[in-house]
Amino acid sequence: MAKIINVIKGTKDILPQDVEQWHILESKALEIFSKYGYKEIRTPIFEATELFARGVGDTTDIVNKEMYTFEKSERSLTLRPENTAGVVRSYIENGMARLSAPVKLWYKGPMFRYERPQAGRQRQFHQVGVEMFGIKNATADAEVILLAVNYLKSLGLNDLEVELNSLGCPTCREAYKAKIKEVLKPEFDNLCEDCQNRYEKNPLRLLDCKVESCKAIFEKPEIQKVIQSDFICEECAAHFAELKTYLDKLNVKYTINKLLVRGLDYYNRTVFEIKSNNLGSQNAVCGGGRYDSLVRNLGGEDTPAVGWAMGMERLNSLLPVPELELLDGYIVSTSPVEAFELAEDLRDKGFKVEFDLANKKFTKQLEKASKVAKRALILGEDEIKAGTVAVKNLSTGEQVSFPRNQLPQVLAQG
Ligand code: ATP
Ligand code: MG
Repeated sequence: MAKIINVIKGTKDILPQDVEQWHILESKALEIFSKYGYKEIRTPIFEATELFARGVGDTTDIVNKEMYTFEKSERSLTLRPENTAGVVRSYIENGMARLSAPVKLWYKGPMFRYERPQAGRQRQFHQVGVEMFGIKNATADAEVILLAVNYLKSLGLNDLEVELNSLGCPTCREAYKAKIKEVLKPEFDNLCEDCQNRYEKNPLRLLDCKVESCKAIFEKPEIQKVIQSDFICEECAAHFAELKTYLDKLNVKYTINKLLVRGLDYYNRTVFEIKSNNLGSQNAVCGGGRYDSLVRNLGGEDTPAVGWAMGMERLNSLLPVPELELLDGYIVSTSPVEAFELAEDLRDKGFKVEFDLANKKFTKQLEKASKVAKRALILGEDEIKAGTVAVKNLSTGEQVSFPRNQLPQVLAQG
């Protein structure tokens, strides 16, 4: 036998029995996001590498360690590790700035990151996300957070925790960064290697470190004092206060987490995550925030923006497995021609119907019916002569004969 070729590490097949759950995530996204005026956008799965280097930021793990980059015709291309950069590129390239603000877009699809595969972490995974362009007021931040919460509620996920923080603006953040560096300087040798590398380039990212020994350092009182201080300027503070007021009024529960800085470089002011206690260590289902400088950094006009992305695999693992959908009827017959004709007639009328394609024995066909359908539609010689079908309800065992033309009404009863 030829050698078997396996699926690539960190990627997964989504098998037929699991696809129903994906359909639910996708159809709820369309339903809920449409209510808020979001339109779906589909951008390419690969883009110029430079888009991510500039758009995600070259001090991030994503750009430094996790990108799938390849050369083709002397161009460097990258499989998208996230979709905000692609959406922003498309916004600029297609002149969406000319549309009246806000421009509200949503997307879904696969993303690629070369990370260590583990529970809740794959190399090809899927995100559903939204981006809103053109509004600097905190109303926009509140609306996207509310949208995330309502989407999760529509899936039956009510007990997730929203964590919120404000990173201030580039100006007020500079002073904060300097203070963080200063207070961590005496601890430099005790920090993990990643933190030591980030210390100069991206000191805020240190706060996000998951290494226990680093977390313990950040617990020290003199360091906590800096972390917990209100460093953001008056304008940023007013924006944050306004956001909290909206969320309070709309009954969105949240906690402030001063350690929440998010991995990406482009955020300013609002950042947030939604977490579940049922996911183990990869517990974030949603991450997002405001990114007012990204459109300009990628060559567009100055445009405020805010958005989020959710990991669809992590969402799926929180949802109950839906029951397998049964056929409306499985035709059990010794005449393939009659069975074929009846099946096509019923399919034409909108019903899900199958019949035996392999000339199996009558009893085998009945067995199959009981596995895949709500009813067996028995079409024996007597029924064919009489123009009837014996309908056997496979959950109650009850069997009643009907003239063929009544069959659609019978099946329509669910
Ligand atoms: P994490 O801290 O879990 O690495 P992140 O900050 O890198 O998350 P984002 O880039 O904000 O994640 O992506 C948003 C969401 O996408 C995450 O909250 C998570 O649900 C999901 N996600 C991110 N990376 C992966 C992955 N490798 N596999 C599965 N889901 C992922
Ligand atoms: Mg990550």
